[in-house]
Amino acid sequence: MYITPTFTPAALERWAKITDDSKERILTHIYCGSCTTGRGIRDATGELHASGCIILHGFCPDCGGKVCRVVEPGEGVPPVRKGFTQKALTFHIRRESFFVTLVHSDKHTLEDLAETIIRAVDFDLDHCFGFYDKLGRPGASKEEYTLFADIGEESNPGDPGVQTTALVDVFRPGKKLIFLFDYGHDWRFDVTCKSIEETSSKFRKPKVLEKQGTPPIQYPGYKH
Ligand SMILES: [Zn+2]
Repeated sequence: MYITPTFTPAALERWAKITDDSKERILTHIYCGSCTTGRGIRDATGELHASGCIILHGFCPDCGGKVCRVVEPGEGVPPVRKGFTQKALTFHIRRESFFVTLVHSDKHTLEDLAETIIRAVDFDLDHCFGFYDKLGRPGASKEEYTLFADIGEESNPGDPGVQTTALVDVFRPGKKLIFLFDYGHDWRFDVTCKSIEETSSKFRKPKVLEKQGTPPIQYPGYKH
């Protein structure tokens, strides 16, 4: 057992980070030069030194002589547990004057991104779609990801599909693809990955950060 020293506020803040086991070990093993043993401490005070050490002053419980203990910075502090992090991918989606900023997590797929875009423009997700790297001529793309590949319809060899393709495996900051929705109508949206950043805040659902301009109308004249 030990009696907690009287700490200055700064020292107390540092002391609070030390595990209970370490606190006990420190306070019950303080070397007394007269007794030449490492015993406890009484009437202890603790202050924080500029170096980050806590300096404990007090008296030997056996002989009453002055004892002192320096608690090194980091001593008794458990290693920082690697906190939860996930990657946040920020996208700019543009079509003519319409513009939206989306954030997806590294758990999300190209299909998730497609759904977010379609929701952001208030379309119905009622057609096939794909992502292509040849911006002007999607058909001439070297890199493409289409729903056709997932559903077993005709697609180019090397098309990994959209349903299981993670966004982090496709995008890096600055990378641009065309999102093509509804091959009959040929809606095209520019998709640019603006950033990929570690974040400690957990999110499952994609987020729409901002929208500008007027989204296109999927079925003009038809009201939902
Ligand atoms: Zn002593």
